[in-house]
Amino acid sequence: MPTIMNHLPELLQVGDLEITVSVSQHRTSVGLTVERDASITAVVSPQVTVTELIRIIEAKRTWLYGKLAEKQQLGVRPPAKKYVSGEGFPYLGRSHRLKIVESGEVRLVRGRLALARGGGARDLVRWYRRVGESWLGKRVQPWVSRMGAPIAGLRVRPLGYRWGSCSRDGNVNIHWATMQLPPTLIDYVLVHELAHLERPDHGLEFWRTVERTMPGYEAYRERLRRASIDLWLAEEGQ
Ligand SMILES: [Zn+2]
Repeated sequence: MPTIMNHLPELLQVGDLEITVSVSQHRTSVGLTVERDASITAVVSPQVTVTELIRIIEAKRTWLYGKLAEKQQLGVRPPAKKYVSGEGFPYLGRSHRLKIVESGEVRLVRGRLALARGGGARDLVRWYRRVGESWLGKRVQPWVSRMGAPIAGLRVRPLGYRWGSCSRDGNVNIHWATMQLPPTLIDYVLVHELAHLERPDHGLEFWRTVERTMPGYEAYRERLRRASIDLWLAEEGQ
């Protein structure tokens, strides 16, 4: 049964749900929100007791689980993009607005992504893959030397819901959508895959290698999980 405590804590645990509580003089009851990063917030009136709050959360449990499931998965897409001037696409952690131009391949011009009229997802994915191959090809080098990783090659391609994969013969594949992340998170994806060249599983030795190369990697792993919510994955999983 719920706690007898009547003072509202800042963080409330109800079953396996963790809720951030904030008190607002303007509220008459309780407002529950599931944020984009899948955290739950309750804004409550000062009159609400802990017991009442827990009862309300329990009554809304199914709804909360539904919302969490929606937001926690990498596969859940933000609203579909429109291929018009002004639409934003992330690249290396920053949003770049589209600029529709008459012709040519997709390119970054003074901070804007130039897309030829009539172009769409296919062209943008091709661009992410092209810039990814050269950017990641350079970015991976210092990690390769530091880890002494036996890498044979790096390719940027669609990988479904995986960030990266590697084959037994030393080829590393990175999802093109990774190019939307800030560089520090891309580094984590690279280090993770390079560590797999020695250890295919996620055992203790694997995580030791990651930790040795990138101390405090857990924070990156957590940020990566959250960042995945806002990624653009194109419409037909290209
Ligand atoms: Zn892994």
